[in-house]
Amino acid sequence: MNTELFIGGNYVAPSQGGRFADIEPATKNRLAMVAAADSADVDRAVAAAREAADRGPWPRMTAEQRGKILHRLADAIERRARALGTLEARDVGKPIAECINHDVARAARNLRFFAAQAEVWTQEAAFGAAKFLGADLRLVNLTARSPLGVGAIIIPWNSPLMLATWNLGPALAAGNTCVLKPSELAPLTCLALGELGNEAGLPPGVLNVISGIGEAGAALVAHPGVDGVAFTGGVATGRAVMASAAQSLKRVTLELGGKSPNLVFADADLQRSAAGVARSIFRSQGQSCVAGSRLLVERRIAEEFVAMVIEQARRLRIGDPLDETTDYGPLISAAHRERVDSFVKEAAREGAQILTGGSAPEQPQRGFFYLPTILDRVAPRSRAVCEEIFGPVLTVERFDDEDEAVAMANSTTYGLAAYLWTCNLERALRMADRIRTAMVWVNSFFLRDLRTPFGGARLSGLGRQGGRYSLEFWTEPRLLCMTYPEGTADG
Ligand code: NDP
Repeated sequence: MNTELFIGGNYVAPSQGGRFADIEPATKNRLAMVAAADSADVDRAVAAAREAADRGPWPRMTAEQRGKILHRLADAIERRARALGTLEARDVGKPIAECINHDVARAARNLRFFAAQAEVWTQEAAFGAAKFLGADLRLVNLTARSPLGVGAIIIPWNSPLMLATWNLGPALAAGNTCVLKPSELAPLTCLALGELGNEAGLPPGVLNVISGIGEAGAALVAHPGVDGVAFTGGVATGRAVMASAAQSLKRVTLELGGKSPNLVFADADLQRSAAGVARSIFRSQGQSCVAGSRLLVERRIAEEFVAMVIEQARRLRIGDPLDETTDYGPLISAAHRERVDSFVKEAAREGAQILTGGSAPEQPQRGFFYLPTILDRVAPRSRAVCEEIFGPVLTVERFDDEDEAVAMANSTTYGLAAYLWTCNLERALRMADRIRTAMVWVNSFFLRDLRTPFGGARLSGLGRQGGRYSLEFWTEPRLLCMTYPEGTADG
């Protein structure tokens, strides 16, 4: 387990020797003491990335050459799938089956996908005409995309390896060098990427990973040596990142939270929809930006449907994340469990009915477990309905018709995702058109082609990731204009 900072191709101790404890959510035991970067370490990491961007081979390699190395990094991840999945399960508390089969597999896929995208990404050319110094000229305008330079990537604790590679993939494939800052709550698989990058042949300085707590993130975003920032996390920090980046007009992309509704109509396949709704909110214990945390259900099927979702919630196997049969693990930390519980208690004080869950499990569980929770009769403007809880809490609201459903779905300040459950195609299209989220799924949850735009509208974020959207973010479009005179050489 690597717990030092990874800078310039080597694991190094933090300059002031700072460390913080990384706690295992399922046991409350200390998993590791991890290096805490301060602003001097941020300087070192950015200097290494800057050197590799300005004088190293990486930006000048062809997309194919870089792609070969990224494929080797993906190979290294796949070879270590069990070890990385186990580390992620221990560090994050997610069930190991999900870590290995989804997160680690997606980490390799992210790198392979963007390596391939960068190779086939075509650039533009346009012919034109202009008069210059009295001569009639023909123009050839070429648009070339150069790497942006040094990227700062700040990712959260809920899916560290998957989100790190989702951002590193396009940044590296496009020729940038990077400083990756994982969350202090789950930094271990990101730190392991340094060693895997060396094994794959990434030149020194191309990938730097700095763990830290309370200082490194802000110092990294403010650093004059950084050219672009990709931040995934909460809205408040996203605002601070944007304000800081504005000082030097750095490019910023923000992937923030959500309060995504599941809209269930009476014409839906109710059994499948109930399983889908439960999965959308209880997968990763609700600690997901795309969690379907609101159930908006047509009134005439509400009682029947809610009972089906409760049944799904109660069927989840809660337990040790390292057990292959576990569906549902602990929350990330004691503070987060308290925060989740405070939403539930507040809603209950305001009159909400707790249909299931609403507390830690009764049988002694050592970790930060919290039961899958469903709240009914929640006051429409209550915090539980309007704010992201980022935990396993589903609120239930009822609607009578499409207009009311749309008004409810659009009533929060977020705009990430919506899930429509209906067998009526025209209704699905009509609703998708009226709902103001950046992503809409019909009769499914979170399935997607990596070429499509992922991200949020309104308070859910800024910019999009995926396919060409990511490659555009990580490159600077540049014009090269060449001319030749009108007519032929022989007049
Ligand atoms: P935060 O939004 O607080 O982000 C924490 C990360 O941001 C750390 O790496 C931290 O680094 C860095 N950071 C803090 N301040 C700044 C700053 N001013 N400039 C740059 N970087 C900074 O995440 P939390 O984990 O505390 O989660 C808070 C809430 O965010 C959750 O409850 C949830 O609602 C939401 N969230 C959303 C996620 C998503 O996928 N969209 C993922 C995780 C959380 P340092 O330690 O050095 O300060």
